[in-house]
Amino acid sequence: MAEDKRCNFCGKSAEDVTSLFSAGNTNICDECVSYCFKMMYGSQHIQQGQKRVSSGDINFKNKLIKPTQLKATLDEYVIGQDNAKIALAVSVYNHYKRIAAIEENSKDVEIQKSNVLLLGPTGTGKTLLAQTLAKILDVPFAIADATTITEAGYVGDDVENVLLRLVQAADYNIKSAERGIVYIDEIDKIGRKSENTSLTRDVSGEGVQQALLKIIEGTVSNVPPQGGRKHPSQEYLQVNTKNILFICGGAFDGLEKIITKRMYASAIGFGANITTEKERDENAFAHVTPHDLVKYGLVPELVGRLPIITALNQLDESALVQILTKPRNALVKQYKKLLAYDDIKLEFSDDALVEVAQKAIEQKTGARGLRAILDTVLMKVMFEAPSEKDVETIVVSADNLKNGTEPEIIRKKQERFA
Ligand code: ADP
Repeated sequence: MAEDKRCNFCGKSAEDVTSLFSAGNTNICDECVSYCFKMMYGSQHIQQGQKRVSSGDINFKNKLIKPTQLKATLDEYVIGQDNAKIALAVSVYNHYKRIAAIEENSKDVEIQKSNVLLLGPTGTGKTLLAQTLAKILDVPFAIADATTITEAGYVGDDVENVLLRLVQAADYNIKSAERGIVYIDEIDKIGRKSENTSLTRDVSGEGVQQALLKIIEGTVSNVPPQGGRKHPSQEYLQVNTKNILFICGGAFDGLEKIITKRMYASAIGFGANITTEKERDENAFAHVTPHDLVKYGLVPELVGRLPIITALNQLDESALVQILTKPRNALVKQYKKLLAYDDIKLEFSDDALVEVAQKAIEQKTGARGLRAILDTVLMKVMFEAPSEKDVETIVVSADNLKNGTEPEIIRKKQERFA
């Protein structure tokens, strides 16, 4: 029986791949060839004869988008959160100016990186802002969750996997990835536990913070191309993180207490301004200082590498109604489009939209809960209506949301046959 020929790189047999190339006793399959090619040049260069210009070679100076213009474009996708938008627009503008300065070999003043820390409750648009920025700037973008990263030696992801995601988003074009944006979510969850900082220091998250600190401040990182844990015999992709913009985000539950305690400590007693505790807590994030974050449990070095700190507000009823209808990809627009494929119109009464917003506020999930609420109210009609030939319009009212009744279906007038 002829011996089964296998790719010496991935081990797949000739039957499992489209082509297997052989030289003497060594074989390589088409998949591994294409993978190596991508690793060396990025997917842009796969077409033969194509000029070797990658998005990594962008002349950023010509591409710089002014902060006001950047904010105006963010406004099309993200409702409210003006302070965060302004901070991000300025930091991104400065970040890419910094890259332009490096490319020009400008030696007089070295511009520092302007990584950003977004504080704000869940579902208020932190990820959406970072994602939209990357889309506008047309640079690779990756999202990572800080809680999945663990210190080397423990079960979980190495910090380099964050960079691997960026490299993958850049189609293995390392140069392009090196100018991308990484959003690290839940950065607050890897803090040292702050309650007992003074006596018994809980250093559970500190190792992860140190590992993140390295890539955030700029280093040449060895990234395992297949992900997972690093092992000595592996080939690595070398990624320089010097020009990657890091945006970190977290809800920072309880940070408001640290801020208000600091702010109002000296104001107790007669003559102090009377504000309710709730009011103080709600506005607290606007007054955050790096020291508060250290008290919360972030290591000072990490805080130092996130010089731009900005807070996102809890979304109120009117903001949530706008989110439902205004942005380019607003949920109501999406559902209308889905039903339009079946030639069905979808309408919401104004008070129905307010009711959806109210429900989301009750659930305390910010805008994140809106979709599930709409799905619930529309599920039955979306299931049945496409099979019925005479449905013209579906009308959602506040009552449907309050009492769980079904939306009204307006049917087409029967056509008269002569
Ligand atoms: P988080 O602050 O937890 O990162 P996300 O940005 O992931 O929240 O928001 C979840 C979803 O809610 C988004 O996909 C988006 O549809 C919607 N959303 C949240 N905030 C806003 C906002 N300010 N404007 C428009 N949509 C928003």
